[in-house]
Amino acid sequence: MLHSPPMIVLGFESSCDETGVAVVSTERGLLAHALHSQIDMHQAYGGVVPELASRDHVRRVLPLTRQALASAGLTLDDVDAIAYTAGPGLAGALLVGASVAQAIAWARDLPSIPIHHLEGHLLSPLLADPRPEFPFVALLVSGGHTQLMRVDGVGCYELLGETLDDAAGEAFDKTAKLLGLGYPGGPALSRLAEAGHAERFDLPRPKLHSPDLDFSFSGLKTAVLTRMKTLDPQDAQARADLAAATQDAIVTVLVAKSVKALENTGLKRLVIAGGVGANRLLRERLAVRLGRLGGRAYFPPLELCTDNGAMIAFAAAMRLQAGLADPAERHTAFTVHPRWAL
Ligand code: ADP
Ligand code: MG
Repeated sequence: MLHSPPMIVLGFESSCDETGVAVVSTERGLLAHALHSQIDMHQAYGGVVPELASRDHVRRVLPLTRQALASAGLTLDDVDAIAYTAGPGLAGALLVGASVAQAIAWARDLPSIPIHHLEGHLLSPLLADPRPEFPFVALLVSGGHTQLMRVDGVGCYELLGETLDDAAGEAFDKTAKLLGLGYPGGPALSRLAEAGHAERFDLPRPKLHSPDLDFSFSGLKTAVLTRMKTLDPQDAQARADLAAATQDAIVTVLVAKSVKALENTGLKRLVIAGGVGANRLLRERLAVRLGRLGGRAYFPPLELCTDNGAMIAFAAAMRLQAGLADPAERHTAFTVHPRWAL
């Protein structure tokens, strides 16, 4: 890992609704990152509009690149490698970051390193202090994914369990929509839940006691919808209580399965990645449960929980250091993978 010379990596993320550009040093870690979230733009539509997302990435990517380089105190001349999210994600959105990355790499005669978006999320907690040692269990909870992985090193990932239907973030987003909250639903729902009492509603906790490490969240929407129908729409307290119950149901299952994954693997370290990792209740409950088990939960800094360029540049830096990416390799062609298993 320490045999390769230090390198500066410029990384691009554009898989969905965030444009992220970051500068990472293989030696000194994250030097700077710049991020633009399209949330405001998509809010009016209640979800991400792919064509609008692509166009906005086009508008943002170069100014963000200049901003990231400037705040690192560097120029393109200092960059040794280019990284980009090659998938999974929205095809048109991915193509923006990938083509800009590839164009810079080609013009500058630099290596270009395609990165799997989920690998970025998985390794992002290593950007934090304290930094977890390998091996660890990773709970990947985002808008598109809910997975438990065993991570033995860079590139060594074993899937332990995953959702059979909706992702945890999707469950937050969809139930938030039922409750009349805006997009993205996760932060809105957890804010509303703060004023609520979870005990008031007994919602299903799908697969809580099943022996596997899989999840299923799609039934929760129906359960929330059924409860909604019995409520007075003007009753603000009831909505808050329902939000609290929903959050409690999702978090309870996530915590239970994470603990089971640690027990099954005999590992003590749990790393949480993806947007739902920003959830406060999840953070608090995991910290308490793992503390009791003599284990430890590691969270990426809040700003790096959702999509960002830092995790992409960082994953590329880790791959370079581990010898999994070749700094001498040059590409003139590139492709993106809207669907791509890790
Ligand atoms: P993706 O890459 O799949 O779009 P992200 O990692 O960007 O996912 O995370 C976005 C998801 O995280 C959304 O579903 C959002 O509702 C959820 N999320 C963000 N903050 C919170 C929070 N505080 N509580 C619960 N969910 C959250
Ligand atoms: Mg996102």
